[in-house]
Amino acid sequence: MAGCLSEADFVMVEEGFSTRDLLEQLTLGASQATTEEVAAFFVADLGAVVRKHFCFLKCLPRVRPFYAVKCNNSPGVLKVLAELGLGFSCANKAEMELVQHIGVPASKIIYANPCKQIAHIKYAAKHGVRLLSFDNEMELAKVVKSHPSAKMVLCIATDDSHSRSRLSLKFGVLLKSCRQLLEDAKRNHVEVVGVSFHIGSGCPDPQAYARSIADARLVFEMGAELGHRMHILDLGGGFPGVEGAKVRFEEISSVVNSALDLYFPEGCGVDILAKLGRYYVTSAFTLAVSIIAKKEVLLEQPGREACHSSNPSCAACAAPPPPLPAEENGSAPKTILYQLSEGEYGIFNSVLFDNTCPTPILPKKPSTEQPLYSSSLWGPVIDGCDCIAEGLWLPQLHVGDWLVFENMGAYTVGMGSLLGGAQTCRITYAMSRVAWEALRGQLLPAEQDEDAEGTCRPLSCGWEITDTLCMGPVFTPASIM
Ligand code: PLP
Repeated sequence: MAGCLSEADFVMVEEGFSTRDLLEQLTLGASQATTEEVAAFFVADLGAVVRKHFCFLKCLPRVRPFYAVKCNNSPGVLKVLAELGLGFSCANKAEMELVQHIGVPASKIIYANPCKQIAHIKYAAKHGVRLLSFDNEMELAKVVKSHPSAKMVLCIATDDSHSRSRLSLKFGVLLKSCRQLLEDAKRNHVEVVGVSFHIGSGCPDPQAYARSIADARLVFEMGAELGHRMHILDLGGGFPGVEGAKVRFEEISSVVNSALDLYFPEGCGVDILAKLGRYYVTSAFTLAVSIIAKKEVLLEQPGREACHSSNPSCAACAAPPPPLPAEENGSAPKTILYQLSEGEYGIFNSVLFDNTCPTPILPKKPSTEQPLYSSSLWGPVIDGCDCIAEGLWLPQLHVGDWLVFENMGAYTVGMGSLLGGAQTCRITYAMSRVAWEALRGQLLPAEQDEDAEGTCRPLSCGWEITDTLCMGPVFTPASIM
């Protein structure tokens, strides 16, 4: 969709310019601001989103990507994805309005929420959004009344018991109940045109996609027997957003491609979609947050000595803490609590929902002589649960110092309002000229196409190269032992 994104929407980054440079400039500016206190902001590399898209097209050539707006509804992200030609998966009226506002046609929108508010169904009907999902007969009844020309996608449950964030606890119908629903739809003259599923996010087993694709095939057969003309298969989301994920995107793609070839071979007339969220945006966003308060407490205070998330990927959980530094004056060892302006009920909600352990990066590398202190990071809400990270070993930090967190693009922006707070965090968008030109030409420069292992490499823009991105060591027990 040409014309959604223009050069005015982002900072054009030239060769040799890095995230570090931009973050340094912005933190310096924020620290010196006299009118308005800025305590947190994002830098978003739209080039990283472009790169993800090219990688997607390469790895899953038969799948048409849609973007799950709820994952990050910031204007820069929506515009770059619209420019790349993606469709959009919306969970409510506000999301449909948002993408229509930037010029996305109704034909590229799926209202993919199996439990919908009637007013929102009416909005979809009025504004031409015809593809809706459902997983129960009550929804069918609502659609018959409020949107009779809707085309419905049946959302089936998956076994997501091993996924970090489970969706089938709430959404999706069991295979054994599908026939009943398809019959109800037929009786009510509702067109069922496809099947969708979501294997949950952070699923450790790529075969979960293959199992759900096989289930979907059975539902297609049931639908055909009942006279439904089904032609859409929606693979949902759950594709990882970071490089170091337990299961790599390329690995999942290979499982998905094989399952598609087996159950929905090329030429079968089925349009394959996926609704991706975190895959596109996680690694594109870096957050800078400043310390707004600090206090020392005795380490013997209950519950202050370690991270409690029990997340196996957390460095603080995986490694035993180093021996406590002896206090110079012989007094009892202490731990330092730093308070940030953002916490679990806002940007760091992944701690709550995805069991993550956000790891801060310090803008300035401390010297090896600098002592490290047992430390933890807390959000602004006055309750004992608003803990972002524990079990850290950091040099002495001060109020006003900045901490940087990478991979902060998914379910962070826009979540403040979902969780009852206001979203105030500023976002500075940037993109390298190379990425911008690749986007406008809609093709990946040949020499940057792939490495020897078939992995999609970043666009060469200095921006995404690890060396330049690294702002200093990560001070978890694992990294200093
Ligand atoms: N599709 C649906 C129906 C969802 O509910 C979600 C997220 O909750 C997504 C897609 C995107 O999931 P992910 O961010 O794991 O790709």
